This record gives sequence, structure tokens and C-alpha cells, in this order.
Amino acid sequence: MSTAVSTSVEQIRKEFPVLHQEVNGKPLIYFDNAATAQKPKAVLDALSYYYEHDNANIHRGIHTLAERATSAYEDTRKATSRFVNSNEVEEIIFTKGTTEGINLVAQAYGRKFLKPGDEIIISHLEHHSNIVPWQILREQTGAVIKVIPINDKGELIIDAYRELLSGKTKIVAVNYISNSLGTVNPVKEIIAMAHEVGAVTLIDAAQAAPHHPIDVQGIDCDFLAFSAHKMYGPTGVGALYGKRRLLESMDPYQGGGEMIKDVTFEKTTYNEIPYKFEAGTPNIADVVAFKAAIDFIESIGYSFIHEHEERLLNHANKVLMDIPGMTPFGQAREKTSVFSFNIEGIHPFDIGMWLDAKGIAVRTGHHCTQPLMDWFKIEGTVRASMAIYNTTDELDTFAAALKDIVKKFKK
Ligand code: PMP
Repeated sequence: MSTAVSTSVEQIRKEFPVLHQEVNGKPLIYFDNAATAQKPKAVLDALSYYYEHDNANIHRGIHTLAERATSAYEDTRKATSRFVNSNEVEEIIFTKGTTEGINLVAQAYGRKFLKPGDEIIISHLEHHSNIVPWQILREQTGAVIKVIPINDKGELIIDAYRELLSGKTKIVAVNYISNSLGTVNPVKEIIAMAHEVGAVTLIDAAQAAPHHPIDVQGIDCDFLAFSAHKMYGPTGVGALYGKRRLLESMDPYQGGGEMIKDVTFEKTTYNEIPYKFEAGTPNIADVVAFKAAIDFIESIGYSFIHEHEERLLNHANKVLMDIPGMTPFGQAREKTSVFSFNIEGIHPFDIGMWLDAKGIAVRTGHHCTQPLMDWFKIEGTVRASMAIYNTTDELDTFAAALKDIVKKFKK
């Protein structure tokens, strides 16, 4: 069994050209996957194939290239709809990524429907991109933001969330999986509780898409946003799912070409969804290549991904915990392959730089979750975030490198 799995990971690694290089004279170990994942050949090939064969602007052209480009673009929409199990293909809007998806909902839904005193619930685990858009909305509407607290394992306190909910709650926006700690949140339960008080829900699935199956009908979220680049796809593209009824009730996010039916100087009528929310020429090539990333994940399957990444996390817990001065952050019962930590007496940036000198890429700092870092009363952490192509051998090298660094600093 373990041989079969390691052979497959070996094969998967071959699909990622970038992994096969030395950095600072050492084989690259890439543990910065929560920031962005590397891209398999299929994604790179889809990008260059598109530019070499099909490049044209979409939707309005009648020539062959425009038709090919349009159908490749719309094929990704169909694949995305299947990937998240949306009821209708039109419920998928292409965006720049998670950040844009959340801003779109805050502005096009929140600005239209929220009144002074209405409440938005977020959590203490959120990325800045699921905090700041709601603060901007608060300024614009007079709404109030409430925050679900966490326990010291980095889990949401659901009883406290229950207390926050009331008839005033209009939006509940939480992440599926925390980027800083790897906590998997009980989103289905969170959504059901929000619906009981009539609130709409937005799930930030940026960290879920690479690790965890997404079923928007199963969890019954109203909106869900994610980014292609964290799931082995290109940067600059992502998707927002929204229930048709809500998308249709919303104002446009941006005005311009593509999102209109008719324009006169007196009046403009808007296009149907999803086009109403896709003003201007979109990021066609990256949307097209996004499908290759979805196909890649589907070809591996989440059960294999889960099994392998759980093995990596267990191994990390085994080999990293006995490093002198080690303090891990985030020990949720349900978590993905993220190991966030500090080592007593050594600044996270120093650890990151020393690791880089050994060819190991990790992220250091607040990970765009400053309120979470404040909760732990720290400036930041070192975060090793693992993906499908990482190996237990890499974790052993990582642990040895950390031990070396500790020795150097203790001298
Ligand atoms: N939410 C979470 C949980 C994230 O990890 C990230 C990216 N680090 C984002 C939102 C923002 O994603 P993007 O920068 O791709 O828009």
C-alpha cells in the first residue's frame, strides 16, 4: 500500500517542472502551498496551447477563433459548476480570485441590502480578504461586524457563534479552512444556523479547494469564493458561486462591456447572470487553463489527496515536535496539512531566511491574518503548508534543517 502511494506521488512530482531544480545549491523543497501551489504541465500546456491556437476575444465574435476561445472559456464554467456541484452553470462567475469574489458580494449584495445596525458575522480565523471588504461595507452602510471567537486549538467556538446570531444578522462570512492554522470549520452547521435567522452566507473556500471536496448544494451556502492558483491552476483567476435568486437580485459589481444588454445615454439594461458580473474582457487564457487544474485534481481524487496529506501532517507532527523551543499553533481536531510554529528565541523571518539558504520555501509573518496573530499575542509564525507533491522525506530534511538552525542560534 505505502509503495503504491509513494509511486503515485513520485509520478505526480514528475508533472511539476518547477519542483525539479536546486535553490541555493539544494534540491527545492516547496512548503509554501497555502500561499500558492505549483502548476502541473497540463496547466502550463493549456495556457500555451490557448495562446498558440485559439486566442481571440470571447462571446461577441463570429469567427472561428472567437468561437473556439468562447467554448474553451465556457467549458471551464461547466467544469467549475461540476467541481463545486452548483445547481446551474450560470451560478458560476469568474473573478480574479477569492478576494475579488468576496468584494463582489460585499458591494453588489451588501451595499444594496444592508441598513445601519444590520450585522455581519465573521470569525477570528479570517484572512484579511474576508475582513476588510466587510469593514468597507460597514463604512458605507452603518452595518456592525461581530466576530466568532476561537479556542486555543484554533477552532471556532460554535456556542459563542450561536449567541451572536439574531434577527439582525444579515451576512455570515467565514472560511472553510484557515490558511494560517489549517483548521477545517464546520461550515454546514454554521450555514444552517445562519439560515435559521434568515442570514445569507459566504464561504471563503480559498484553502478548501486544493484539499477538500466542495459541494455548494450539500452545505447549502449562498455564496462561495475560491482561487485557481491555490489549486494548481493559474494566478489571476478564481470563481464565485452564488445562488441564482441572490445573484439576480444584486446590483452589478462593475460596469462595462459584456455585462449589458442595451445601452443608451439615458438607460442601460444589464445582461443575464453570470455575464452581468463579468464586465470587460476577462482573463480568458487563465480561465481556460483553470479547467486543466480542475481536471488534474479530479484525476487524482480527493480521497488520495486527503490520505497523502494526512500522512504528511502526521509525519510533520512526529518529526517537528521534538525540535528544541518548538511551539506549534493550531491543533484543531479537523485540520489540513499546515504546520504553523515558532521556535523560542528565533524570529520567524530568520528561520525563513535560513531555510531558504537550504532550498526550503516556507512562509513567515502574519499570513494576512493579523487579528489571529494578535489573539495568540505573536507577530507571526513560520508556516509550512504541504501539498500533494510533498513527501515525508522532505519533512525529514526540513526537521534536520530546523535542528541545525536552532544549534546555530544557540551558539
Ligand atoms: N482567504 C484565504 C483563507 C486565503 O488563504 C487567501 C489567500 N492566501 C485568500 C482568502 C485570498 O486569496 P486570493 O489572494 O487568491 O484572492
